[in-house]
Amino acid sequence: MATIRLDIVSPDKGEIFSKDINMLIVRSTAGELGILPRHANLLTELLPHAMKIKMDGGENLVALGGGFMEVTPEKITVLADSAELPEDIDVERAQRAKQRAEERIAQYKQTTKETLIDIDRANRALARAKARLLVKNALMN
Ligand code: ATP
Repeated sequence: MATIRLDIVSPDKGEIFSKDINMLIVRSTAGELGILPRHANLLTELLPHAMKIKMDGGENLVALGGGFMEVTPEKITVLADSAELPEDIDVERAQRAKQRAEERIAQYKQTTKETLIDIDRANRALARAKARLLVKNALMN
């Protein structure tokens, strides 16, 4: 089966993943994309979500906190704001982050006055926490 190299790097951790894979499925600002070997050149922004990597006959998930993806026919590079493999995810930390974000979003919706809550930031924090819990198979709702 044809392969394409996938490199995932983040500012905090450097190289997180570097392997030959069969397919990468990501959520970009333009929608969901499936990247196969020999894909056309592409540069796109990625949203916080659980990325799917197909390789060695199986499927692996990586939690992505958003970033950019560059594709050439031979190589995919994901420049991640943050990224974690399943074994590196702290479920309790992600649950706490999810709760904080949900509380902020609820406060924002309740108030009719000017608020200091940055709703986009809270939504992004919620999406990061949910992606981590999904990768760990621990997302209840
Ligand atoms: P928190 O509020 O818990 O810090 P966050 O979404 O704001 O969560 P980020 O700013 O996205 O955190 O990430 C900061 C660093 O911490 C990154 O290196 C990221 O990989 C790591 N990280 C964040 N949450 C977790 C988690 N639940 N388990 C493992 N690593 C995490």
